Amino acid sequence: MYGGVIVALVMIGLCATVLYQGRVDALDRARETSHNLALIAQRDIERNFELYALSLQAVVDGMSQPDVLALPPHLRREVLFDRAATAKYLGSMLVLDASGNIVIDSASDIPRKGNFADRSYFTIQRDRPNAGLYISAPFKSRLRNGVPSIALSRRLSHPDGSFAGIVLIAINLEYFHNLFAGLSLGSHGSVALIGKDGVMIMRQPYDVHIIGRDISQASTFRHFVSAPEGSFGETASIDGVRRLYSFKNFPDLPLIVMVAEADQDIYAAWRERALTIGSLMVAFGLGFVALSFVLGAQLRRRMRAESELEMLARTDGLTGLHNRRTLGEILEEEWRRARRTRNVFSLLFVDIDRFKAYNDTYGHQAGDDALAAVARCISENIRRPADSAARYGGEEFIVVLPDTPPAGASLIAEKIRLAISELGIEHAGSEYGRVTASIGTASWAPEQDGSVTAVIKAADEALYNAKATGRNKVSRSRPA
Ligand code: GH3
Ligand code: MG
Ligand code: MG
Repeated sequence: MYGGVIVALVMIGLCATVLYQGRVDALDRARETSHNLALIAQRDIERNFELYALSLQAVVDGMSQPDVLALPPHLRREVLFDRAATAKYLGSMLVLDASGNIVIDSASDIPRKGNFADRSYFTIQRDRPNAGLYISAPFKSRLRNGVPSIALSRRLSHPDGSFAGIVLIAINLEYFHNLFAGLSLGSHGSVALIGKDGVMIMRQPYDVHIIGRDISQASTFRHFVSAPEGSFGETASIDGVRRLYSFKNFPDLPLIVMVAEADQDIYAAWRERALTIGSLMVAFGLGFVALSFVLGAQLRRRMRAESELEMLARTDGLTGLHNRRTLGEILEEEWRRARRTRNVFSLLFVDIDRFKAYNDTYGHQAGDDALAAVARCISENIRRPADSAARYGGEEFIVVLPDTPPAGASLIAEKIRLAISELGIEHAGSEYGRVTASIGTASWAPEQDGSVTAVIKAADEALYNAKATGRNKVSRSRPA
């Protein structure tokens, strides 16, 4: 039964280990997937920015050549702005003068009107001659109806090094939006492009209010800048969802790409499987334990019943003494032992006096009661564990007394006879007026030959002698 519990526990333990391993595997797989997605996004953005940077450089170079500047506007546009200017998602390429006014416009021969002296991509280049390629925070384009954009800018300098204006490329944020939308990340996943200064450039799922937000104080962002790349689990400050974050800092651009998969998506398939297998396992385990309990209880009941049955088969129903079959076994065993240990061995043959008359007078039921009472007198007067009493048949009993000499046997016989007589059961047909018994005793000494049957026969003869000489008495068989 406890075996059943242990087997069930081992089964559940094994199952739990396998399920736990499955969970670890799910996390590993998710980490790898998001790392790969981050890499794909980074490569795509890098390649595009490289093209934009080259285009900017081409304009900067062209602007330093007087013959290019001398060309008519439509030719000059063609020379300055190469094919990059027509690329998808590209807002516009502009050349601004030192006061921020548009002087050359990639979109038309007559430049659109506009002044951008307030934009960071302008002021940085004006104030810091060595700013190089600058990537701005997101802004709403004033030339293109407020379309969310970022700009890349480079400084234009006079031959003496003084500020001459800037060249800029405005990139429609839709580019990042579409790039991220193409990465599949589960329903609660998130991808983001963040400036190294902590400004959110694009995030999927898209929310117009998140674009341009400064997240430099968020704990996730502190992770992003702590290493070139890595992954960690954390709850997002933006929507409170716990995710596994993978991030990569661009090596040559002030950008960070972050891919995060929600724990609930990572473990969704695993959880479903674990729930099914786990509950099946628990049900099986409980069933197994219940079954082993039931079987165990049944087995114990059967064993009890069997031993009761065996007991019944060995005892006499009326008196509770050993029956004749058991007597045979006891006699055989004690006889063997007596011969082996060379000990004295005695037998008593007890027979109720005038019992036929008793039955005739008081009825068979009263006869049975008297038999049971006599049997009690016999078993109460044999005290040694090795002694045993059996119903030999009818109203006759045999008492086996191992290691008991003739004198001891006579003593016990006398005690039994007296006890029966003292029961005081009325018996009108008896010369004593009460139920009495006669007892014959016989013993076997080690120096004798002989057999059990011979000893029984001797006891029977002694009993006959007791009957013949007046009943209600003990008679010892004469020594052979
Ligand atoms: P005695 O031994 O004194 O010579 O006379 P007796 O009448 O006892 O001898 P006998 O052997 O002739 O009779 C034995 C009687 O015991 C026969 C039967 O009526 C009765 N008897 C035997 N077995 C049972 C029993 O199981 N129940 C009852 N009620 N009576 C029994
Ligand atoms: Mg008899
Ligand atoms: Mg009798």
